[in-house]
Amino acid sequence: MTDMTDTTETIALTNAAQILTLGGDRAARAGAAMSELGLLEHATLVIEAGRVAWVGPHAEFTAKLAAGELAPGVTHDCTGAVIMPALVDAHTHLVWAGHRRDELELRLRGADYEQIFAAGGGILSSVRQTRAASEQQLYEQSLRRITRMRSCGATTFEIKSGYGLDLESELRQLRVARRLRDEAGFRIKSTCLAAHAIPEEARGSDDARAAFINRICTEILPAVVGEGLADYADVFCDRGAFTKAEASKVCEAALRLGLELRLHANEFGHTGGAELAAQLRARSADHLLHLSDEERAALREAGVVATLLPGTSLVLGKPYADGRALVEAGVPIAVATDCNPGSCALENLAMVLGLACYGCKLTPAEAIVATTHNAAASLGLADEVGRLAPGLSADLLVIASDDYRDLVYHAGSPLIREVWSRGQRVDRAPA
Ligand SMILES: [Zn+2]
Repeated sequence: MTDMTDTTETIALTNAAQILTLGGDRAARAGAAMSELGLLEHATLVIEAGRVAWVGPHAEFTAKLAAGELAPGVTHDCTGAVIMPALVDAHTHLVWAGHRRDELELRLRGADYEQIFAAGGGILSSVRQTRAASEQQLYEQSLRRITRMRSCGATTFEIKSGYGLDLESELRQLRVARRLRDEAGFRIKSTCLAAHAIPEEARGSDDARAAFINRICTEILPAVVGEGLADYADVFCDRGAFTKAEASKVCEAALRLGLELRLHANEFGHTGGAELAAQLRARSADHLLHLSDEERAALREAGVVATLLPGTSLVLGKPYADGRALVEAGVPIAVATDCNPGSCALENLAMVLGLACYGCKLTPAEAIVATTHNAAASLGLADEVGRLAPGLSADLLVIASDDYRDLVYHAGSPLIREVWSRGQRVDRAPA
């Protein structure tokens, strides 16, 4: 396979049973368009200089070969396989230190997330472990994690901070995300989530709480923007976290600094997060377990992508977001892992794609659009990844099946035979 790692070489992936091109425009898809996979049967895809150069019927490819119009240096037989865009994980917290395996038994014996959080566990336990880690320790732990996630099919990631909750530790987390991009070569968008939880030292009084929120607005966000460390800001706007008024203050500060917004919204109730996301035209509102018709309409009107995180529902034993209602309301949907140390440490977005069907009731085609093109669109990357069209990056998967629906039918099985990023096979990278 070493002959396939030279990105300057022209590579043809030939005669796939199906290629899901997701052909269409760059806008996030909603309603009936969420089922549009641009499916070609018996098809071939040509990669040149790391990008998709051509995709079409295999018969047309062989005619072009015969006419000398195409001359790939390498031909890679994909007979009987499916080729589809690599997955885009649009909501992760994958830079953290340590673990919270000890909470498993507590939770499985009945303690819920909010109880563990109120007892000083949960997020605050990860904050203690992350603050204590050096940048290098944090980088090494996160690199192992993201490499495993890539072997499960995702090549593009959104990464949030939020386990520092003070200036230096938030910057450290975001610098690690930046190193995963610049040194390790992952495609990454990063998000400052300093408003993830109230840290221990700010829990004594209302004044201390207000001072922490003020510090996010006047110190942490400006420093993050000053170093160019984030593309987005996020706030955990929910019961037990930040109120709508507090979230609004942080969001306004972020917008003034030129950051776009993604929001943790309506996970525990109708707590104002979805309304705020619509009011401020956030790129994404995430979780959305509790949504009224009015809230869905507001998200649609504001062009907000609804990012569903069914892995978290599974792990926490919570209800699933209603994917069908969102499709019917015409809200574009993305699906992501929410990979984090507490409420959902699942790393396998391909499996979460299956959960989006069984839990949120998306169809397999809708779940594929939600984990590829729509996720890319929510991250401003629709011209780079999420579809297989000439000019886009050759980030793709080869699936060991002749029917894409097996990703859901056999969810969790090792069906992903190959992961390609920028025209290179990456699924065999050392962990
Ligand atoms: Zn999250």
